[in-house]
Amino acid sequence: MTQNDNSSNQHYDLVIIGAGMVGITLLSSIIAKINNANLKIAIIDKKPITTDTTADLASSYRTTALNYNTKCIYEDIGIWEYFASSATAINQVIVKEELNASCCFDATKEQVLALGYIVPHSELQQKLQSHLLKLVRENNNITLLENQSIKKLQHHEHSIEINFASATANKVIAKLAVIADGGNSTIVNQLGIYYQTTDYQQTAIVCKTELNHPNNNIAYEYFTNSSSAALLPYKQNKAGIVWTVANSNLNYFKEMSNDHFLEILQNQFGNEVQVSFNSISDRFYYPMKMNLASEQVAPNLVILGSSAHFIHPIAAQGYNLSVKCCSLLVKNIQLSLQQNINIGDLTQLLQYKQVAIKEQQPIISFCDYTVKAFSLKSKPVKYLRSLALKCLDNIKPAKSYFTRKAMGL
Ligand SMILES: Cc1cc2nc3c(=O)[nH]c(=O)nc-3n(C[C@H](O)[C@H](O)[C@H](O)COP(=O)(O)OP(=O)(O)OC[C@H]3O[C@@H](n4cnc5c(N)ncnc54)[C@H](O)[C@@H]3O)c2cc1C
Repeated sequence: MTQNDNSSNQHYDLVIIGAGMVGITLLSSIIAKINNANLKIAIIDKKPITTDTTADLASSYRTTALNYNTKCIYEDIGIWEYFASSATAINQVIVKEELNASCCFDATKEQVLALGYIVPHSELQQKLQSHLLKLVRENNNITLLENQSIKKLQHHEHSIEINFASATANKVIAKLAVIADGGNSTIVNQLGIYYQTTDYQQTAIVCKTELNHPNNNIAYEYFTNSSSAALLPYKQNKAGIVWTVANSNLNYFKEMSNDHFLEILQNQFGNEVQVSFNSISDRFYYPMKMNLASEQVAPNLVILGSSAHFIHPIAAQGYNLSVKCCSLLVKNIQLSLQQNINIGDLTQLLQYKQVAIKEQQPIISFCDYTVKAFSLKSKPVKYLRSLALKCLDNIKPAKSYFTRKAMGL
């Protein structure tokens, strides 16, 4: 028994706070990889878990790129079967900039079937949530606590106490709590861990579009120094758009009709990459900030997913990186169990942190530098950017390195 404990408290080995994409991925990895350990697990979310795709309007405008590594991990933990027939393979990614330099990343050159896959975001969320419900039904060691908001955590000697916002709810005690409650977590702040924030003064405009021709499984990214636009192909002739614009121009974009937006999109992006847009959905807006938690582990605690690192979607890597970290954390827990060590032991968790940071740093720095480099307006910088992209296209080992990094390898 730990300090402040009483018999009404619920005890778990592992508590996952947040049943978003990352919380569910972690739970799925644990069940697939170490369920024989029969860990007592709770997964908690402030929202109801629903397979109703109309529940979240914002996600109906979005598409998500899953990289090659995420697909492999999904296969390994029994999730890929939900997407195998519906996900759209990305065969090529073409990056272009305003001075006309371009670089083409190609799956065949890397001898893989696809560089990654595009899934409508609402489908991704819906299938992950129905997988969560299946896991809960099939494994009596998992407890799902939905509609329950966590307010604060408190360290005990060999465990952590999890307090709900509702005063009537019992406390929960865990050997390990994983905070996966999304970007700018209030729980993380309450622990005295702060966020280092970079405000890019940009907003991502997100929508879906239908093309006048097949998308040919090609993703495009087009850069100017005031915006970057990405096209993510899905189904035969559909695509997701993520157009990041400077906040100073945002009202202009917000006020225009869909028809006007379509026209601007065609002129400023479509014509540059030879894509013809037919129609467009409504738009949704995401402010672009990078939030990095000052610490990702503490005794009996791990911070995971957007709560640990919320990054600019310029390279579509935020969730992919978190999927990788879920796998690393599961390996760490497995090792603790094999060595009969408390799964929340700080020395063990620091080993997780060391490998996780090694994976995170290059991706986080790449996204940050790219956003900043393409925000600079001076002519010499423009020529240098253009030259760098041309060189990348022609230097095979460098191109292959970048391709493999984007694939999560
Ligand atoms: C425009 C845009 C495009 C993107 N595109 C891509 C892409 O193509 N590829 C990619 O890899 N990544 C992409 N990302 C990043 C990706 O969306 C995030 O990395 C991912 O959604 C993070 O998931 P998460 O589970 O950490 O957080 P969330 O999905 O936010 O989940 C957090 C969960 O915690 C719950 N919660 C919150 N607070 C509490 C509380 N106090 N108590 C209990 N529960 C709580 C919430 O209800 C929620 O269910 C994109 C991001 C943006 C903004």
